Amino acid sequence: MNVLLLGSGGREHALAWKIAASPLLTKLYASPGNPGIGGVAELVKLDMSDHSTVAAFCQEKNIDLVVVGPEGPLVAGIADDLRPWGIRVFGPSKAAARLEGSKGFTKDLCAKFNIPTAAYGRFGDLASAKAYVEKTGAPIVIKADGLAAGKGVTIAMTLEEALAALEACFEGAFGAAGAEVVVEEYLTGEEASFFCLCDGATALPFGTAQDHKRVGDGDTGPNTGGMGAYSPAPVMTAEMTERTMREIIEPTMRGMANLGAPFAGILFAGLMITDQGPKLIEYNTRFGDPECQVLMMRLKDDLLVLLNAAVDGQLAHMSVRWSDEAALTVVMAARGYPGTPEKGSVIRGLDEAASEGAEIFHAGTAINGGALVANGGRVLNVTATGATVGEAQKKAYAAIDHIDWPQGFFRHDIGWRAVERERIGA
Ligand code: AMP
Repeated sequence: MNVLLLGSGGREHALAWKIAASPLLTKLYASPGNPGIGGVAELVKLDMSDHSTVAAFCQEKNIDLVVVGPEGPLVAGIADDLRPWGIRVFGPSKAAARLEGSKGFTKDLCAKFNIPTAAYGRFGDLASAKAYVEKTGAPIVIKADGLAAGKGVTIAMTLEEALAALEACFEGAFGAAGAEVVVEEYLTGEEASFFCLCDGATALPFGTAQDHKRVGDGDTGPNTGGMGAYSPAPVMTAEMTERTMREIIEPTMRGMANLGAPFAGILFAGLMITDQGPKLIEYNTRFGDPECQVLMMRLKDDLLVLLNAAVDGQLAHMSVRWSDEAALTVVMAARGYPGTPEKGSVIRGLDEAASEGAEIFHAGTAINGGALVANGGRVLNVTATGATVGEAQKKAYAAIDHIDWPQGFFRHDIGWRAVERERIGA
């Protein structure tokens, strides 16, 4: 098979690494990719917003499957635009990607199909949103409806914070994404990421993970795209997985099919495990980054076989095998992140780090004058496996010790919650 992978992050490097291991693969192309992906794929520069250019490339290179990494092109309808050309695409249609593209759409779906989630209101103007918040009180959660690069959510612990967040949204802090606002009940519990591989009718559980969103040790400082993750998530016991499938995922699959928008691709449920059981915080319609990195390390089966089955509607009789080992990834970021990262600093020692048995997935890297340099906020994902999360953690940090990059930083406590659980034998 000839495969085109779209995207340039650590997520896409992990996907490329796994796809490249498939005996079904003839040639892998990636656009735009990164230097790590360039080790296993031919990098091409396609304008992802111009779907007919992507289609023309696929025809010229006889691409058998397009794998879309990030949400932007999916929400913009790339799957719908390529399919009429006879191109097979792994990823949801524009109508199905509304599960990520509009928080209000997902909340209404939950209400209609009785899916457990936080109580909410949807508002298109400041006055009615304010009235709702004043009536409900704090703590409360304010969310811009559309895609806001993970920045559209405010957890307001006071009424003043909530009102300020509403004002910022309606004043355009998130552009068109904030023209509508979802106001939600504040949930407490432990969060987990739950993934399913879907073919429009069947959803197959596809691993669990927990990530660390805050930039600093001890879960402090501003939110980021994710500073590290581990898999599996201990909180997702067999019982919790069964409840999540029955109460959340399966009604969603039926609901989307009822709406004429069957979901195919990766359905990524952000869950809060509350005293009453799992509740949906949000859906994403693609792999998480960095969660994908730890999932790919544990997946025993051929990813291309599974992606093909999802595209062809053949998941009903498939199963997925995972390694019993835990996997953990630590993100190394450039100084300044999540604000403006410093670019151009030289990174050395990756071969020595890999010799510790770690996989190093690239994100914002570039080659400059033959040297590997930082070229973005999140730059490397140092990823390892072990019999326990604690062991995987030790291996990942031992690998980081070899990386010579004074201008980079990372969290020192990725996996702390699971490691603590292992320590007390819970
Ligand atoms: P989202 O972009 O919807 O995933 O929200 C980002 C983060 O905000 C989540 O990972 C949670 O930590 C937090 N969050 C979102 N919604 C809620 C909620 N209703 N209650 C408590 N925390 C929430």
